[in-house]
Amino acid sequence: MDNLVKKNLTHLTKSELEAELLNLGEKAFRAKQIWNWIYARGVKSFEEMTNISKETRAVLEENFSLTRPEISKDLISFDGTRKWLTKFPDGREVEVVFIPEETRGTLCISSQVGCTLACKFCHTGTQTLVRNLEFHEIVAQILVAKDLIADWKSPIRKLTNIVFMGMGEPFFNYENVAKSVKILNDAEGLGFSSRRITISTSGLVPEILRCADELKTNLAISLHATNDALRTDIMAINKRYPLKDLLSACKVYNQKNPNEKITFEYVMLKGKNDQEEHARELINLIKKFNLNVKINLIPFNPWNGCEYDRTASEQIQLFQKILKDADLISPIRKTRGDDVMAACGQLKSDSEREKRVKPSL
Ligand code: SF4
Repeated sequence: MDNLVKKNLTHLTKSELEAELLNLGEKAFRAKQIWNWIYARGVKSFEEMTNISKETRAVLEENFSLTRPEISKDLISFDGTRKWLTKFPDGREVEVVFIPEETRGTLCISSQVGCTLACKFCHTGTQTLVRNLEFHEIVAQILVAKDLIADWKSPIRKLTNIVFMGMGEPFFNYENVAKSVKILNDAEGLGFSSRRITISTSGLVPEILRCADELKTNLAISLHATNDALRTDIMAINKRYPLKDLLSACKVYNQKNPNEKITFEYVMLKGKNDQEEHARELINLIKKFNLNVKINLIPFNPWNGCEYDRTASEQIQLFQKILKDADLISPIRKTRGDDVMAACGQLKSDSEREKRVKPSL
């Protein structure tokens, strides 16, 4: 059978994979074995599945494929950060960034091709929304990453954490993100616990509440402002979900996931949101809603055409001191990979071909 018409087993959920194999007359345990080969050992051919008989492997080969998406670009930063473009069969591409650190490795993955939201500081936001990713396209980013960093057989896991902070608003693609998280969680496969997965959102209140019950991953909120006027100016989504609603949803998230702090992402924009008064306003908000959060202070990574500048490091430190004096954990994020445009807010692929879809705010 031609490879084009073979069903790709990596496009199936675990129960769909079981159903396929039962259809072929195989026993249910065979699906478990194959799942383990694909997601725990990273094999890319049936030939490598050595605990399966030759005859069965031939049948699998005849009927199915295990094809991964292509890598159309692979860049390595001087600091070891890696960025690559993952290209799907329809030609659409998303960026994936691997950030190695001493004790862990984090993969920043995408959930959409482009983004509808156009937050003013974000380079990805200048790219048209092309489409949502399917759940298997989200998972494939992890499979490909583990191939590229040779992480399938390494005695110490190189890839330990997954963050949905690449292209797109994950909660605009909730169903596919949820399905992908289930596959990531599977202990017989990739085995990332929900505590090792962070979903970053611009603040979609209904999905934050859903996620609190269903996915129980870590949550990061792109906050970036301390009052509604300022936040609506920087992030139009604030018109639909103003701070009062967003922070009330965060409170519910805290109550349902009491052991984890929510991360507030706060990009420091010179003269815009980086003054002492903003730090104090932020403290007041956190106290008012009684939130269990930490605040990531992010030095802004400039890109061509953006109206903002980077806040001086002394000002970032002053802002941090005010937060620390109020007992708030507020690390300043180290900028990584900015020489290959892999730093936070700089992601943008080359597949910008269709007109921007405006969000209905
Ligand atoms: S910050 Fe996130 S939601 Fe806003 S434009 Fe960028 S990718 Fe989209």
